[in-house]
Amino acid sequence: MPAITLDHVSKVYANGTVALQDLNLSIAQGQFISLLGPSGCGKSTVLRLIAGLGKMTTGNLTWGNPTHRLAYVFQEAALMPWATVEENVRLPLKLSGLTKRATASAVAEAIERVDLQGFEKCYPRELSGGMKMRVSIARALVTKPELLLMDEPFGALDEMTRSKLNSDLLDLWQQMQWTVIFVTHNIYEAIYLSNRVVVMAARPGRVVADVAIDAPYPRTEAFRASPAFTNYYRRLSTTLSLGADPDRETWQPADYAADFPSMPLNEGAMSEGAR
Ligand code: ADP
Repeated sequence: MPAITLDHVSKVYANGTVALQDLNLSIAQGQFISLLGPSGCGKSTVLRLIAGLGKMTTGNLTWGNPTHRLAYVFQEAALMPWATVEENVRLPLKLSGLTKRATASAVAEAIERVDLQGFEKCYPRELSGGMKMRVSIARALVTKPELLLMDEPFGALDEMTRSKLNSDLLDLWQQMQWTVIFVTHNIYEAIYLSNRVVVMAARPGRVVADVAIDAPYPRTEAFRASPAFTNYYRRLSTTLSLGADPDRETWQPADYAADFPSMPLNEGAMSEGAR
């Protein structure tokens, strides 16, 4: 049973903007899926609908297991500036009525998982951008979610920090066995992280390609430098540019296969990259 199924979902905002049109997406348990596309193609709208923050106009959205919890991580770490790291991480548990004593070990564990031991008593102003994002991730994982929604969480970070957080996020994903839906417009990040990349295009927001990233985990720097990675990059960047081309408004995923009739993956390079 998929973790989340969107069936013929459309979303038209009150001002008439068609943010999503006939979106069909089935997301398996434990999948790391990226929604990749230019600004305005409806990626955040998909996350908001899954989170129940707004209603779809038509269609159905089904949770495989309605008791599953979700956590949402945004581009801005959105921390309380007057509260310490520890207090920021505790917030969701505090809001659900749990005492400081009852939450102490969960908070400590979450902080440890994002490598922020020793910074518990620091305030956000004392932290770097990457550390603030780690606090935001700890605040998400303290609730022990099964589904993690991430909306361009590393978009405002420098390349080195982003790269480190990408690796650490993958480690966490493997430990926690989350289903992750990750929004990005960064092709490299989407390939490195995901086992599936869904490419979206705008006006109206829709899916134009669904690409399996068939490389083993854990992923390494060698994977980023491999010919397989470059092949995925070419496929996705061409798809994005075609999807954004107004002359190709009727362009469909089927065309995508025709554009790349013979782009075999270099399996040798893939396994080398995985080592
Ligand atoms: P993305 O995350 O891919 O940048 P969004 O889901 O934020 O895209 O937005 C998709 C489209 O819907 C955009 O054209 C955006 O301007 C529009 N939109 C988003 N939220 C609203 C809203 N609350 N009211 C009207 N239009 C909106």
